[in-house]
Order: sequence, then C-alpha cells, then structure tokens
Amino acid sequence: MVILQKTYTQNVLTNKRHNNDGKLDKVIIENALPPIVSKQVYLEVQERMKSLAEKYNLSGGRNAYDHTNSYTAFGYCPYCRSPYFRKWNHGNEALYCSSNKERARCKESESVFVKHLDEIIPLMVKKLIANESEFKKELLEAFSDKSLIEKKERIDALSKEIEEQRDKLLQYDGLSGDAFDAIKEYLRKNINELSDEKAVLENEWLIEANPETRVNEIIKELHRFSARDKIGDYDFRKLFKRMIVINRDRLIFVVGSDNLNNLPYNPQSINMKFIETYKYRLRCTWFTCNFGIYINK
Ligand SMILES: [Zn+2]
Repeated sequence: MVILQKTYTQNVLTNKRHNNDGKLDKVIIENALPPIVSKQVYLEVQERMKSLAEKYNLSGGRNAYDHTNSYTAFGYCPYCRSPYFRKWNHGNEALYCSSNKERARCKESESVFVKHLDEIIPLMVKKLIANESEFKKELLEAFSDKSLIEKKERIDALSKEIEEQRDKLLQYDGLSGDAFDAIKEYLRKNINELSDEKAVLENEWLIEANPETRVNEIIKELHRFSARDKIGDYDFRKLFKRMIVINRDRLIFVVGSDNLNNLPYNPQSINMKFIETYKYRLRCTWFTCNFGIYINK
C-alpha cells in the first residue's frame, strides 16, 4: 500500500515540504510497490536483532530489539533498584533512572552523559591493565567461595533423596487404582522438584569451584579492549556487566556476576576499588567524577 501526498509543497520557491494534516486529500494505492525485502531477509534480520538483544541481556519485550547498544539498561539505580534508560536531550545522549521515565519519582538518582562514559570506560580499562596483578588477586579472592563445601554436601544429600524416592516409585510400579496413582503422581512431582534444585546447585558449584577459570575469562576480556583508546563499537558489557550510578560523579562498574540482588542496602557503602578520576566541564564549571569497580561474586 502506498499513500501519496503525505507531504505537500506550499511554496514552490522555497520548496519547503509540509506534513499533510488534512489540508489536501491523501491518495491511497494498494499493492503499488513490491515488498522492499523478502520475507526470508526480514526474518533473518529479526533473528539477528533478537540475538543482539540477548547478548546485551535485554528481557526482549515489545520493541526491545530496536536501537539497542551496550548502554541499553547498563546503568543501575541503587536507590530504587531500576535499570537506567537512554534518552536524547538537546543533542546529547544521556542515561536516566527508569523510575523517572514518566514522573520524577526517584529523587536521589542522577543522569549520566554517554559522551562522558565513552571516555571514562577506556580510562577504567587502562587503570585495570596498569594494576593487573592486583586486580587478578582481588578477583580470585572474591570468587573463592567459602560456602562451597556446604553446597557440595547439599548436592550429595539431594542425590540420595532422589534415589530413595525413585526406589519407592518402583515399588508401586505394578499397582493401579486411584490411591496408588495419587501416590505415584506425588512421588514423580517430588523427584522433579528435587532434580531441579540439584541441577541449579550443580551448575553454581561448577562455576564457583573454578574461580581461576572465571578470573582468566575476565583478564582475557580486559586485554581484548586494551589496544584501543576509543570505545568504538566494543561491547564493554563482557567486562563491565552494569554501572551503579551513586550520582553523576560517583560511578561503579560491576565486574563478575550481573546479579545485583546482593548489593549492600546502603548505596554509599558499596565498596569501590581501583578508583580513577575524570574531569569534565558543564557550562562554566569543572567537575570531577570518581569511578572504580565493584567485584560481584
Ligand atoms: Zn532510581
């Protein structure tokens, strides 16, 4: 379908186009143009956008695949625990606490300019490179979980329980009738639930049992960035999972897990390490932004 006369030229000398808001009749022609892309290409593009959105950890709601980049939901508000959203304001792109999207509900949060972050993030990487051995040590210490033994014990206990329930189920195998069916159904449900819990724990255990592997992955990612000064199209989310915005002049980059549920309740007490500064000018005043990393287990 094609709509003609969506705009019209009022003054042929200036050649200025105006939106046709009803001053002239619009002309509608069905099936006038062949489709611009084939259905196959369209579906491939949708698939690619979806994988990009997944890469950047987006939930994938409606329109979530449009215009996403590494800054999408990168900022995190420690006051209302909401992600930051991107917004263009007078030619500058900035990140805002999403509680302020409709009404200014989150009084303590501050917006951050993307053009500043474009410079701050390479500085953060440089700081970590310069202190690599110390950074490695801190990571290893954070990832070496002392509750590992407890977890292993729970996994073993679950295995034993699942085994017992399976044996019971076998005993009822040849028996039928409503009462037996109910018991069998109950046992199956139980086995499923126990198996799920065991799978989750085993997965956690595998990751935590190898802190060196996690540390090496992070160091590898650090060196992938180190050759450049400019941020370019580098996907820094592989290194910095989120950015906690205490305020515009105190930014904390999260390294490690992107699960922020266990952050200290008081944002001011979030432990910031490898601190660096960035000076910027707003109108006539100079400001200093302090930034660093937080290692999240
Ligand atoms: Zn907020």
